[in-house]
Amino acid sequence: MNIEEWEERGLVSPSDMNSFLPPIGCPLKWKLKKEGRGGIPVDRGRAMLGSNIHHMIKTYFQHISDKPSEAEIKRIAENVYEEGFNKGQLSGLKKRAERCWKNFVAFELNRRKTWKVYKPDVIEEKLSGAGFIGIIDFHSNRQATTIDWKSGNLNQLGDEQLRQGKVYKILLENNGHKTGRVLFSALYTGRILEMPLVTDGWVERERNKMVTMVRKRQLTKSPGRLCDKWCPYLLECEMSGVCLWV
Ligand code: SF4
Repeated sequence: MNIEEWEERGLVSPSDMNSFLPPIGCPLKWKLKKEGRGGIPVDRGRAMLGSNIHHMIKTYFQHISDKPSEAEIKRIAENVYEEGFNKGQLSGLKKRAERCWKNFVAFELNRRKTWKVYKPDVIEEKLSGAGFIGIIDFHSNRQATTIDWKSGNLNQLGDEQLRQGKVYKILLENNGHKTGRVLFSALYTGRILEMPLVTDGWVERERNKMVTMVRKRQLTKSPGRLCDKWCPYLLECEMSGVCLWV
């Protein structure tokens, strides 16, 4: 989707805002990506592992029963990992994947004992409404709890997670769900971080800030800590504004 199509759609996702706004976003990088520029190759392994684990979790919930025993949880999880882990492309991240999956299973074994209704109402579902769009990893109406699985390192919550969590609540409520807690489950460390109260109107202002900047084509570079390692447009960015012939 190019920038004009994105504007016409009028729906902003948390990842749009996080890749555009501070502290880790950059309008120039967002613009070059929307224009379909290839850039230089960067290591996409961790991002691929994240997608792979989300897919495995979705498959797990498609196969688990409504009231599973401990043995069923372990058996289904083992089968899903065996068949679902992308051994070919992600062999270098096998240890990380195993640790994330082990923590996921431990979380589910614990959840089974404490939650009245085990299975979620929403799993990996794309929702839209109120000017936003996003994919909800997991939501339970009975427990009024939303969970976002993270396979990367996450020790504390920042603006990126607050944008995500608040948008998820807006989307769920717009689609008739009952919301409450938003939990970020850091699968690598096994830590659970709960989203604090986020003031109403904050994420809408973040959205409007981005939309206004795009409309005015204020799409300049915003260097940050992710430039060197994660930006495929590093070369293009360093050369922007430089004329080679003078
Ligand atoms: S290198 Fe940094 S400042 Fe340049 S486009 Fe990439 S993210 Fe933006």
